[in-house]
This record gives sequence, C-alpha cells and structure tokens, in this order.
Amino acid sequence: MELNPDEYKDVLDRATARSMEWIESIPDRHVAPSANVDAMKRVFGWPQQDDPIDPVDVVDELATLAEPGLMAMPSGRFFGWVIGGTLPAALGADVLVSSWDQNAAMRYASPATAAIEEVAGEWLLDLLGLPSGSDVGFTTGATMGNWTGLAAARAYVLNQVGWDVNTKGLQGAPTVTVLAGAERHASVDLALRYLGFGLPTIVAADAEGRIRVDALRTTMDTVDGPVILCLQAGNLHSGAFDPMREAIEVAHEHGAWVHVDGAFGLWAAASPSLRAQLDGVETADSWATDAHKTLNVPYDCGVAIISRAGVSRAALGAQTSYLIKDGEASDPYDVAPEMSRRARGVPVWAALRQLGRSGVVALVDGLVANAQALASGLSALPDVTVLNDVVFTQVSLYFGSDDRTRAVTAALIADGAVWMSGSKWQGHDILRISVSNWSTDADDVAFSIEAVRRAIESAT
Ligand SMILES: *Cc1c(COP(=O)(O)O)cnc(C)c1O
Repeated sequence: MELNPDEYKDVLDRATARSMEWIESIPDRHVAPSANVDAMKRVFGWPQQDDPIDPVDVVDELATLAEPGLMAMPSGRFFGWVIGGTLPAALGADVLVSSWDQNAAMRYASPATAAIEEVAGEWLLDLLGLPSGSDVGFTTGATMGNWTGLAAARAYVLNQVGWDVNTKGLQGAPTVTVLAGAERHASVDLALRYLGFGLPTIVAADAEGRIRVDALRTTMDTVDGPVILCLQAGNLHSGAFDPMREAIEVAHEHGAWVHVDGAFGLWAAASPSLRAQLDGVETADSWATDAHKTLNVPYDCGVAIISRAGVSRAALGAQTSYLIKDGEASDPYDVAPEMSRRARGVPVWAALRQLGRSGVVALVDGLVANAQALASGLSALPDVTVLNDVVFTQVSLYFGSDDRTRAVTAALIADGAVWMSGSKWQGHDILRISVSNWSTDADDVAFSIEAVRRAIESAT
C-alpha cells in the first residue's frame, strides 16, 4: 500500500463540493431536519459489507444519505440551545487541522500547532481582559472547561490544608464545600460529579438568575475549611451575569477558589459596551468558556483558563518516560485533561485572525443587538411576554400560560422555518431564544418574528 496524494485530492474535492451544497442550502432551507433518528437509522442501518469501496463514493453516499437528518445549526435563523455557526476562516482552519492530523498534546511533537494555540490563548486573555500569563487549555467544550477549572480548584484548596489529592484521592480528605448559584448550568453539577464532589451547596438567586451576594455572605459565614465557589457569566435563560466583583471578594475573604462558568457569557468581557456587567471577573481564579458558541468556530472547542501559576500542571499534568518536554513551558496535556487530541485551538486562532479585535467586538455586540431586536419585535405580538431583561444574547418568552407556551413552541418547531428551544424557567414553560450565530441579520430577525406570529395563530 502506498499513500497516493491523488486519492486524497479526489476525496477532498468531493467533500468540498458536497460541503458547498450544504452551505449553499443554508440561507433558504428550513432549519428543522426532515427526518428523525429512527428514519436515519433505517437509511444507514445495513450490516457492514465485506469488500472495500471507493473513498470518493463513501463521501458522496454520506453526504446524500445524511442530508435529511441534518439540522441547519449554521443558519442565522437557528436560535436553539446555545450553539453558534462557523466563521469561514475557522472552517478552513478546521479542514487544515484534519489534513495535518497532528496530535496536538505535546509541544515537542507538533511545534506549529503548539505555538498557534499558545498565541490564540494569549489573544483570548487579552480580549477577555483576564490575567496575562494564565494557563489556557483547549477542551471539547465548557463542560470539560468547567471540569478543568474545578479539578485545579480541588487540588489547590486541598493542598492549602495539607492534603495532596493527587496521591491520596478524596477518601478521608478534609471536606471541601462547593457553593454554586441556584441557576448554575447543569454542566457544573456534572463536572462536580466527575470530580467526586456530588451536588454543590446552593446559594439563592434573584429574579434574573444571578447569585445573591447577601445569601452568599450568609452561607460563607457558616462554612469551615476549604471552599470552592462557582459563579456564572451568562445565564441560559436570561443571559444575566452574577455580580462578579462583590461575590469574588466575599469568596476570597474566606480563602475560597472562584471558578467562573462563562460558556457563552464570558465573551461580553470583549465588548467595551458590555464589559461593565462583568466588572471584576478578572479577579476569579479560573474560567471556562466555549469557542464553538459565541466565537463561531466549528464543533468542538472549549477553553479552560487558570490564573494561579503552576496549579493546572500540578493538578492535571502527566509524567511518564515517553513524553518529551520542549523547554520549561507547560505542554497542552499539562493544562487540560487529554493526552491525545486534535489541534482544536487552531480554528480559534483563525477566527480571531479573520475578525481582528474590532470584529470580535462587532460580533458580540451584533448578537446582543439582534437579541434585543427580537425581544422588542416579539413583545409587540399579542400575548407575548418577554420574561427577562435582555442584557445579552438570551430571550425567554411566555405566551400567557404554560399550556399556550408549549403549544406555540410545538407549532413553531413543526413549522421548522426557524428554530427556538422550549425550556422551563422558574417553574414555567418558556420559549427560549439564543442569538449565537454570526450571520443572523435584520432579515432573519424580521423573518423569525413573523414565524412566531404564525405559530401563535396556528397554535391550538
Ligand atoms: C453550553 C454551556 C455549558 C456547557 O458547554 P458545552 O460546550 O456544551 O460542554 C456550560 N455552561 C453554560 C452556561 C452553557 O451555556
């Protein structure tokens, strides 16, 4: 067998052509898929054949068969969950990353991707106003970004009381109290579960879902021993930000480590007009964010940032005979969980390079402007209440009653021309909008308001 570059060329040409069919369909296609998983399982569900087939045919078959079961997540009319599309440079870079096929975990083994990711990390710290020199690790998403920050926190706060969690584990360890707001994201609980902590102690939140500093102070005063506080930049339903400076001050007075889940909301820090809402965020100890949401790089890419020197490496770093260090700097595998991974920080570099600093600000401000335009257009429709202060990219809608809200949501999803998610917030069914796509424009906003109007009319 021989590596034949022509074979790759044929496959890549075909993949590009089929990718372009998909991308060209985005502006006009229905957002919702036309086939469900069961239908897709029937389409793909044959036993594997015995003989090899032409790789170009594999790509063709894949593109043709998958198409009905794809959701147009890259569409400017997709507002589901918190997802985001793909900037052109980020997609191109992602294709290069696949072609290069580097295991990006070791600096020595892949100098180019290591350097590009380190520069992307420095640019991120600068854009987000976080302490320069912090460790930056690229993870699959903010769930693992939260895990990484909280793993560092666990090692640090236990070390402060003379317990080495690396060697002794958690059994018999001093009790660590983990505090989190009532409206933390589910992934914080997951990360805590993976770390052996179980559920956090809950601190009450206000009407917008922000942690209440008075409640935090009261709880903190009752706690003895090592403490970790999880804050949130960007509530899933309201977009609201925890009061960072005050909450972090209270926590630090008690010697706590503060971790901020800023999966999408941390990007507000890049915008001069939004940054005040995150005032003091830079005084925390660790942060998680996503690049695959607000920054619009392809899946998957999260970011874990840890400010205290040496902590990530002590908590996460591996030492084995076969890993080769290139100098004193931390390797990618020292600051994030994986020992083998794709160079997922490279599309981050490309997105930031395409946008420039002003482009990042315009991207973030544009998402917020569209969220506010949707909120104001929708609140003019009959029976629509916007439940939250639209301070960022999230809008939560209510249609008079829970039943009615569920009916409108079902009608909207059945129509499929735009996509928004149903959810529950503060005991009520809601319809939630997340504006996370760089390409959403005024036409998409008008079209989407019209789609909700149709859903209101047709809902029974
Ligand atoms: C999306 C999200 C997460 C989880 O991020 P993943 O990238 O899905 O792992 C965590 N916190 C918040 C606030 C989120 O919106």
